[in-house]
Amino acid sequence: MTLRFDHRVAVVTGAGRGLGRAYAQLLAARGAKVVVNDPGGSLTGGGNDPGPAHSVVDEILTAGGQAVANTDTVATAEGGQAVIDTALEAYGRIDILIHNAGIVRRGALRDMTYEDFDAVLDVHLRGAFHVVRPAFPPMCDAGYGRVVLTSSIGGLYGNHGVANYAAAKAGILGLCNVVALEGAAHGVTCNAIVPGAVTRMAEGLDMSAYPPMGPELVAPVVGWLTHENCSVTGEVYVAIAGRVARVAVSESPGVYRPEWTIEEVDANIDAIRDMSAPVSFPVVPDGHGAHIRYSFDRAAPRVGTS
Ligand code: NAD
Repeated sequence: MTLRFDHRVAVVTGAGRGLGRAYAQLLAARGAKVVVNDPGGSLTGGGNDPGPAHSVVDEILTAGGQAVANTDTVATAEGGQAVIDTALEAYGRIDILIHNAGIVRRGALRDMTYEDFDAVLDVHLRGAFHVVRPAFPPMCDAGYGRVVLTSSIGGLYGNHGVANYAAAKAGILGLCNVVALEGAAHGVTCNAIVPGAVTRMAEGLDMSAYPPMGPELVAPVVGWLTHENCSVTGEVYVAIAGRVARVAVSESPGVYRPEWTIEEVDANIDAIRDMSAPVSFPVVPDGHGAHIRYSFDRAAPRVGTS
């Protein structure tokens, strides 16, 4: 059965180009009313151009879909509020929020300016809060919501020259977990996408050996995460060059001792690091508590546990 979004209202930040454009077009083609947000700046965040947001709206309308443009920045609280207000004013509700907006400012850590660090956090991480914060109450009040935040391979594993971007993209996973936890009782899910696609963010890279990796290989995964059928929350999904996979935090079981010295850490480091039987704790319903209980059980095993 075709999975559709009739009567659903979606906000996609940074939807004037690249991945966001693909998400907006896919949801609109399946019946969603879409707010296409994009101030249309440069890759590093400079300037404004209403053209990209409006041309995506025009494409959607021409194809028979429904969409409105918003050109506010997500980098400020006022801008984020205005993005969400556009959905509430134009369509009276918000069911889906995809925070996808992004900029890149590269620089080696030893040279990175505070301005470049802040500018990247403002769009990716604070930008996520600036749109989640006003969208979350109406979603909870309506008893339904689908939030997707955008992380990155750089957020999971780092990369050279992007301390700002890596920190922001890792921080987004922390926010995602809490949205999932606090939304669970209200029918609101939140998951993160780790996309890989050839967009303007790939400018300057040698892509001659890359397999096909357009945004259309990522959009269906984000589409499912924003659909009623989405049965997961507090999770992280990779979509790159046709590979779709789940990412999870895992821990080694570790070593328990009632007392430790530096020498005993030294003697046990291989066993401490041994990931051959990893444990992981799903965020929802209570990964935080499960982690603590697992750790405490090592100190004082309850009857029936080891
Ligand atoms: P892109 O540059 O093509 O699109 C990003 C869009 O965000 C642009 O249209 C831009 O104008 C918009 N934007 C920038 N600042 C904004 C702001 N303050 N408010 C609202 N919109 C703003 O890049 P993309 O590759 O499509 O990236 C989309 C998202 O995916 C980003 O969060 C990016 O970090 C992430 N990502 C992309 C890749 C990849 O391989 N392309 C990999 C990992 C993560």
